[in-house]
Amino acid sequence: MQKNCIYLDNNATTQVDPEVLEVMLPYLTDYYGNPSSMHSFGGQVGKGVKIAREQLAALLGADESEIIFTSCGTEGDNAAIRAALLAQPEKRHIITTQVEHAAVLNVCKQLETQGYSVTYLSVDSQGQLDLNELEASLTGNTALVTIMYANNETGTVFPIEQIGLRVKERGAIFHVDAVQAVGKIPLNMKTSTIDMLTLSGHKLHAPKGIGALYVRRGVRFRPFLIGGHQERGRRAGTENVPGIIALGKAAEMELLHLPDATNRERKLRDRLEKTLLAAIPNCEVNGDPQHRLPNTTNIGFKYIEGEAILLSLNKYGICASSGSACTSGSLEPSHVLRAMGLPYTTLHGSIRFSLSRFTTDAEIDQVIAVMPEIVERLRALSPFKNDEAGWLQQQAQTLVNK
Ligand SMILES: *Cc1c(COP(=O)(O)O)cnc(C)c1O
Repeated sequence: MQKNCIYLDNNATTQVDPEVLEVMLPYLTDYYGNPSSMHSFGGQVGKGVKIAREQLAALLGADESEIIFTSCGTEGDNAAIRAALLAQPEKRHIITTQVEHAAVLNVCKQLETQGYSVTYLSVDSQGQLDLNELEASLTGNTALVTIMYANNETGTVFPIEQIGLRVKERGAIFHVDAVQAVGKIPLNMKTSTIDMLTLSGHKLHAPKGIGALYVRRGVRFRPFLIGGHQERGRRAGTENVPGIIALGKAAEMELLHLPDATNRERKLRDRLEKTLLAAIPNCEVNGDPQHRLPNTTNIGFKYIEGEAILLSLNKYGICASSGSACTSGSLEPSHVLRAMGLPYTTLHGSIRFSLSRFTTDAEIDQVIAVMPEIVERLRALSPFKNDEAGWLQQQAQTLVNK
């Protein structure tokens, strides 16, 4: 197994912070009790879970009672959407966007087959929403508005509170998939319009298999998993205690490092982006330059295939991504970049670099050192080089042959 690499794919998953690992390990060995047990052996585990809940609540500016631990971001999204609809059975309309994660989009698609109507808000060429379109879509029949805080592919950040004000005016429930925002953008649920918010541990240096859903006190919630009385009856199943302990510690670390870490990541990201743009002709940044996650850059390199760039980077031990982890593997261009209406030539050659607080200057230097040569070599191999018409024709032919 390859262990050391230059890991610039932190929007797909992150390394577990060593300090997080340290606090979770005893809960895999000595402290294996069930937090619901009456004996003190279980009770001490329950205390650990309580502390983790406080740590996570502190990061969100929430109350502990408003946190439900889940198995992942996908579960949080699913549970929030179902709960919002069950709480208002008379309303049959949902608003979301064209650029959501599959954990929201595919649930909405299934709900369409079950008698719900769904509005998928469009985005502009920077991946940004039009608030007028949102206002025009909201009706008294709208049960739920579910919109991501920040896009995993481009890093574009939506004006969540401006959206929330409009949603609240019409009495709908507002769910936010904040998997990419938590730990990168300061959040305070006390002053927010958000009713429910999803997050995932493995995107913020906790392990995979743990997440959380914030549910504002007073928002009617119906459980997705039904069984025992864990999580105040809102999510049955014996708790993933090591995961919960880890997520609590990870939340504490994020709170500690914000905003220093994000400033550092932004500087590194900007240096990477500016240097590549200056060194390589015919490339551009995808996303909203003003409202963007500090750790993300998505760059379109015209006339070449993103997959070919990734394979070349892989030879240097550099991990990046084209499209989202869920859609890559197929050669379909990303639904996010397509929704932005990007030209065909950019759509296929887009690469996402996503940094973390563990990213170093030297790693960025490495990428800067190899990228221009990789792009030049691939373009030289491409029969159409900088010939846009020829490239388009070739791509059209590939599609016909499918
Ligand atoms: C990763 C991600 C998810 C899914 O989280 P999992 O914990 O992997 O299920 C949902 N939404 C966004 C925006 C993501 O980036």
